[in-house]
Amino acid sequence: MSEIVYVNGKYVAKEDAVISVFDRGFLMSDAVYEVASVINGKLLDNGAHLARLDRSLGELSIKWPMPKDELVSHMEELVKRNDLSEGLVYLQVTRGVAPRDFSLPDVEPTLVMFTMVKSILASPAADKGIRVITTPDIRWQRRDIKTTSLLAASMARQEALNAGADDAWLVEDGHITEGSSNNAFIVTTDGVLVSPSLARGMLHGITRKAVLGLAEQEGLKIEERTFTPDEAYQAAEAFSTSASSVVMPVVQIDDHIMSNGAPGPIANKLRALYLKMAVEQGGVADNQ
Ligand code: PMP
Repeated sequence: MSEIVYVNGKYVAKEDAVISVFDRGFLMSDAVYEVASVINGKLLDNGAHLARLDRSLGELSIKWPMPKDELVSHMEELVKRNDLSEGLVYLQVTRGVAPRDFSLPDVEPTLVMFTMVKSILASPAADKGIRVITTPDIRWQRRDIKTTSLLAASMARQEALNAGADDAWLVEDGHITEGSSNNAFIVTTDGVLVSPSLARGMLHGITRKAVLGLAEQEGLKIEERTFTPDEAYQAAEAFSTSASSVVMPVVQIDDHIMSNGAPGPIANKLRALYLKMAVEQGGVADNQ
């Protein structure tokens, strides 16, 4: 059975899912997106994803394509039609179709959604940990909006792969902002969990927030502040968070081996706690 894709009100086979050449998402990256994970057929923390979508749309004055509850129904329907048990729902809203121009037209938005099969609970990468390089953050300044302007992030990821690593952590003014598609954390040798504060123009990660909540419940000391690559090299452990990779232990940063080359205990613990919560809550932390 072919994958089913949602395009502007229709459920169609992947091969038949098309948008206009004049769609501003295609021409100008005038578009925002969300990626929510699915566990046991249920969307995880979808309320938080849709709250962030609301913020992204608002910042760019792009209209909601439909009321929020209808959007949730379509997300759930797409999961059902694709018989998705574990994986991701990708959702993108563009400003819409208009003659190419630099002004922002008042047109009807485009909504596309598709699902991706991905193993979230079991992850060989998380068992082993990943290697990251640091590289300059050349992205635009509104990184707090989840737009599809992902070329700089893709270039950073490719640079990492070319260097034999798995991902890139991005550096601005000597400090790490975030990973190419995830939020960055270190644990200091004093056991303090450190993640750059959101004040610093970066994405408000949904998983970051959930993991910070779990860390607080565990009684960990938390500091939301920037850190340099040097501080990261000296840290006891490092990891990143995202909806698709949950908590991903980092075992090497540039030439520095972290936590003896194996996932650190705090990363492992937070990953386990997050997945336990996800499964226990049937994938729904705040599903509205
Ligand atoms: N930062 C960036 C730049 C990202 O692209 C992502 C994932 N889309 C994240 C952080 C993690 O966000 P979330 O936990 O909501 O997936």
